[in-house]
Amino acid sequence: MERLHARYPFFAAAREAVDAAAVDLGELVTRPDEPAVDRAVDRVVSALTDHTIGEPHGDDRIELLSYPVARVVVSLVDDPVVTRTYAKAEAATAHERVLADLDGGDDLKFTTNDTDLTVERLLAEFDLEDEVVPTEDGYEVAVTRYLQLAADLDDPDWRLPRRSLAAGDVPVTRDELLELLRAAIEERVAAGLPFAVPDAIAAELDHAVAAVEDVLSDPAIPTEFADVDPAAFPPCMDALLERARAGEELPDHSWFVLLSFCATVGMHAEEVVAIVDPGDETVAERIRYGVERVATSEGEIAYPPVSCATMQTYGDCVNKDETCETIAHPLSYYETRLAADD
Ligand code: SF4
Repeated sequence: MERLHARYPFFAAAREAVDAAAVDLGELVTRPDEPAVDRAVDRVVSALTDHTIGEPHGDDRIELLSYPVARVVVSLVDDPVVTRTYAKAEAATAHERVLADLDGGDDLKFTTNDTDLTVERLLAEFDLEDEVVPTEDGYEVAVTRYLQLAADLDDPDWRLPRRSLAAGDVPVTRDELLELLRAAIEERVAAGLPFAVPDAIAAELDHAVAAVEDVLSDPAIPTEFADVDPAAFPPCMDALLERARAGEELPDHSWFVLLSFCATVGMHAEEVVAIVDPGDETVAERIRYGVERVATSEGEIAYPPVSCATMQTYGDCVNKDETCETIAHPLSYYETRLAADD
């Protein structure tokens, strides 16, 4: 296994290295105190708390093996917010490494042409050689692929009307191309997640799943409120409600956080349907299903909404006001505003 594989474990060559090493993940997760499992938990927990994948393990083999184990853990947690946050964190770390490695990174010394990281190699890795061509000033990206990769990028400068088009291609700088590659990495990491995990492996990873779920159910977050008062909703939830009312197809994680927020402040499914007012029974059903999903059978909230930091990662933290400066979670905002309005 090469160091490149440990740094970019989602590369096809890294997957092949794991296969070639004939590592039995089912057997690996049964070993007590297996460092690859600990590192896998660290990858996922760091994604949720810091939006990074934490510090790499000193042993490249352990670092590489921790990636497929982390994917198993994410699959077992089976929460769209966790999946998305994890994929974003892997992509964010990879993006930093790509920048360092391409610019002659100080901590990576490749010795053969096979393992040199180049823009061309990255393009080949993501089947982009025919859709991205170098130019004198940067690169040109085929417009259909550009639209796909830029779809989740927040800055309005990525929108097509703000770009020049050259015969069906979109000119981009090198830095912009690397940003688009970050989106490709996120897409690669998220592909296939969550997947079905055999019961025998799931049983061995109970502790890993519990560690992730502990982070999700942060006890510092207020979860009990005297009133349901939409006037005290934070700006981010107001904005998501507006978009839902306008009939916009929200990304899964945005839907999830909106429904989770509404359920946690005490709204029943029909109240959420009423406040969104979708005018479409399919969307109303989706709301009912979502609200039921975030609650346990005892009516408690199994999946409270994510923190402000994660909302920022999603691009869902918008229209911040003075109260936002004093809190770290949308539910804390709601609690603060309810108390102020009393
Ligand atoms: S700071 Fe927090 S509460 Fe305020 S808009 Fe952003 S995510 Fe919402």
